[in-house]
Amino acid sequence: MAEIVIIGAGPAGIGAAEVLCAKGLRPILIDEGARAGGQGYRRPSEDLALDMNRLMGSEAQRYTALHSRFEALLPAIDYRPRTLVWAIDGNQLHLLHEGKAEALSFDKLLIASGAMDRIAPLPGWTLPGVFTLGGAQVALKDQGCLIGSRVAFLGASPLLALAAKQYRDMGAEIAVIADTTPFAAKLAAFPALLRAPRTLLRGLWYMAASLQAGTAMLHGVTPIAIEGRNRVEALVLRDTGGRERRFACDAVALGYGLKPETQLADLAGAQFAYDADFRLFLPVIDGMGRSRPGLYLAGDGVRIGGADAAEASGALAAHAILSDLGQAQEIDAARALARRVERLRDFQRGLARAFAWPKAQIAGLPDSVTLCRCENVTIGEVRSAMAKELGPIEVNRVKAMTRCGMGRCQGRVCGPALQEIVAAGAGGDGVAAGRLRGQAPVKPIALAAAGDAA
Ligand SMILES: Cc1cc2nc3c(=O)[nH]c(=O)nc-3n(C[C@H](O)[C@H](O)[C@H](O)COP(=O)(O)OP(=O)(O)OC[C@H]3O[C@@H](n4cnc5c(N)ncnc54)[C@H](O)[C@@H]3O)c2cc1C
Repeated sequence: MAEIVIIGAGPAGIGAAEVLCAKGLRPILIDEGARAGGQGYRRPSEDLALDMNRLMGSEAQRYTALHSRFEALLPAIDYRPRTLVWAIDGNQLHLLHEGKAEALSFDKLLIASGAMDRIAPLPGWTLPGVFTLGGAQVALKDQGCLIGSRVAFLGASPLLALAAKQYRDMGAEIAVIADTTPFAAKLAAFPALLRAPRTLLRGLWYMAASLQAGTAMLHGVTPIAIEGRNRVEALVLRDTGGRERRFACDAVALGYGLKPETQLADLAGAQFAYDADFRLFLPVIDGMGRSRPGLYLAGDGVRIGGADAAEASGALAAHAILSDLGQAQEIDAARALARRVERLRDFQRGLARAFAWPKAQIAGLPDSVTLCRCENVTIGEVRSAMAKELGPIEVNRVKAMTRCGMGRCQGRVCGPALQEIVAAGAGGDGVAAGRLRGQAPVKPIALAAAGDAA
């Protein structure tokens, strides 16, 4: 029987496993996390009595349903939690489980590795007390911790209002929700946002809840700095009226939307193309999630679409696997899934315009701002590398010369901003700036473990 491996036990991976199991197949489902559910439906650590119904609010029922469906699947799958896939080499995965390396061969591989925050730096963003928006949510959902008692939310993302609501419900004071995209951009994107009215209403409700709670909520702001001597003391920004505003806080959550985690797809041989709306290079897939023979991509790891799109795209990719294994295709079911995925991804494309990546702000950041915090590289160092005679105006060469993106995170944090600084040097052309190539190990591992695998 063909060895089918799924990486990622979020909605996409679970949705795929359900379809495969219904046909009598037994996929291997790998996840580096201790508990299944992925990012949006993350479960708290087992010994933590966190009231997830309160935290998830209107999403509580869907959250519980996904976890119950996963529990029902367990006897039919080979589930491997706490297992990191750190490299892919031909048809072999390199795994790390509890410090031990092993290799696993596959015939069909479905990567459903989810997304992570996209971050735009600003002066002071390396101060203790600054978190990514997703990191702030992980602290809350996984550990039951708040990142501060008075938190400012800054960025361009519908998740700002959601996370602020979760923080408020759990006892934090919200200093401000500051969005860099003007309100007019949200109105302009409204027709696209009507593609998913239920999600749109939920978003509007989170915003209304913040206003009702008296939280300052600003659109179209220009971030100036995060201030503090030894840790965060205030967020300073300019509002649309040109006024400088200072919001006292002890933590800042930064989030400019999400970006697919594509390193594994890259190592597995996926092709990429530039997407001008998201200003990202994304893996190329067909309508069912096929990337190349034997490789399938689903969920937020290939296109940001949200949990519902992730689940449907996982199921769709599983149908592609079944069809490629020679099983009779369930055409109606696959078509319905494809329509759903397309509609929800169109909605996210609307969101990408309503909450735009602040490319002009990044291009205008002062030289002194740290861009790569792993290797401590400033924006000025990147600019001067590009300004040299025959200097590189391509991200991989800039990385080689400056070490920007070469540290522990492998460019997962600084990559999008680096891309924008390099694009600015190339006259604003995101394609000319090139794509930061994925490298193994995709996450830091002990040298000894890599040695074991060799
Ligand atoms: C931090 C964060 C918080 C979010 N919170 C919300 C929210 O509150 N509400 C909301 O609507 N949306 C939220 N989202 C959006 C969320 O990404 C999607 O809605 C949904 O979870 C996507 O499902 P998925 O299955 O594609 O990916 P995910 O749910 O992200 O699942 C991917 C899984 O792959 C695993 N994985 C990744 N790389 C590897 C590897 N190398 N080896 C092994 N396992 C790996 C991860 O551990 C993860 O469990 C959040 C996203 C992030 C990044």
